[in-house]
Amino acid sequence: MLLIYSIIIILTFSLFSVLVLNKYEELRIRNEEIRLFQTANIVADIYRANQEDIILINTMVKSYGRQADARILILNSQKKVVVDSFNSYVNKVVDNEEIRNSLEGKSKSATYMLGGKKVLQLSVPISFDMEEGKGIEGVVLISASLDKMISDVRSLKNTLISVSAISLSVSLFLTIMAANRLTRPIRSLSNAVERLSSGNLGYQMNKQGSGEIGKLIESFNEMSGKLKMIENNRKHFISSISHELKTPLTAIRILIDSLSLGENRMETYKEFLEDIREETIRMSQLVDYLLKSIKLEDVSLDMKVEDMAEILEDVVKLIKPYAQKNDVLIYMERIDRLSIKCDKNKVKEALMNLFDNAVKYKDPYKEENNLVISMKKFTTEGVLTIEDNGIGIKEDDLYSIFDRGFRVLDSSINMISEVNGYGIGLSIVKNIIEKHGWKISVESTYGKGTKFIINIPL
Ligand code: ADP
Repeated sequence: MLLIYSIIIILTFSLFSVLVLNKYEELRIRNEEIRLFQTANIVADIYRANQEDIILINTMVKSYGRQADARILILNSQKKVVVDSFNSYVNKVVDNEEIRNSLEGKSKSATYMLGGKKVLQLSVPISFDMEEGKGIEGVVLISASLDKMISDVRSLKNTLISVSAISLSVSLFLTIMAANRLTRPIRSLSNAVERLSSGNLGYQMNKQGSGEIGKLIESFNEMSGKLKMIENNRKHFISSISHELKTPLTAIRILIDSLSLGENRMETYKEFLEDIREETIRMSQLVDYLLKSIKLEDVSLDMKVEDMAEILEDVVKLIKPYAQKNDVLIYMERIDRLSIKCDKNKVKEALMNLFDNAVKYKDPYKEENNLVISMKKFTTEGVLTIEDNGIGIKEDDLYSIFDRGFRVLDSSINMISEVNGYGIGLSIVKNIIEKHGWKISVESTYGKGTKFIINIPL
């Protein structure tokens, strides 16, 4: 593209230069013509006035010829040369278009190529009577070579061509350099995108330049890193799920194998079948979780203005019997009234998950297990906190708890805690909260308790 633009510029510039120089050449010829016509008229006047003094005329013609750098001939009405500044044509008859025209009373000029040289030839009549064609005494014919002038124009042309060629090459070189510098990061970005799309997830580009391109590269690196993380999570997730499914399947197979070996008592059958039933329940829970996990992305909201305090009360009412059964006390601290546009059912689902976790992850070694809820209204936002004094979350795990399948992925949690769950609740909560344009964060100290904070912009 750049090359095409450059060629267009060069061609336009060359065409323009050629036109200007041709015009300049024409102008110079025209000036020369005017100058020679003036000389011819002066010579004609002097001849007319001093016809008898042929010596004077000769001297004068030679002098004007030298001055004008031209050959001057004076011819009589029979086209015979009377005076020749070069002497060689004296008494010879010369005939040409210009002489014939001037003998009819007209001035005439023309350019010719003579022996490869351009010559300007012009003639004026020497007349005694001003009436056209009458009293024509003779003709002054001047021929001058235009070579010097043409070589002047040609050298100007050459200078102009070399100057423009040099400046164009320099500017072309600089443009190519600048364009190259500008497009290099874009090329390496497209190269990086190709690598990414061919499966090299996590590919990182070197930071190049600042400004928009620099930002684009930063965003690319961030996106690539996230894609890598998602891919890793997906692999980890699938392998954990497969593992989770394999365990009950193996247990069922072993139970069936044991039952099919020899005669068993009815009680043994019942006992084994009960075990098989438990394993299938476990598997069906896992499948439910998988289905829920797939639907997780498609949360769509039915937004209406709602009273958040009312929503909170409804959820607390629902969870209370379950909390009581598990010896967890619920305290409603300061609850400000907050009218906000939200999807009531989805918000309830999110809160239910958080309250349920507070009960599930209570610390059985503590004297009292509690869940403290507060909602404070400030000028720009409402802040809802859900705090428990349960087992807390280890610092290392804190960053991943909102990730889908976290619990399944982290087998250590599965081992220490015997509570049901597959680590999907919090990712649903986060999804719902963020779809509302709200923010959720967590603070937790392992062994002390956990606090979820929801910021609701007003
Ligand atoms: P699930 O409870 O089904 O495992 P969640 O997504 O709700 O899944 O929670 C993810 C993990 O975060 C839990 O497994 C648990 O380890 C931790 N967690 C969540 N809430 C609490 C809490 N209130 N106290 C302690 N740990 C919690």
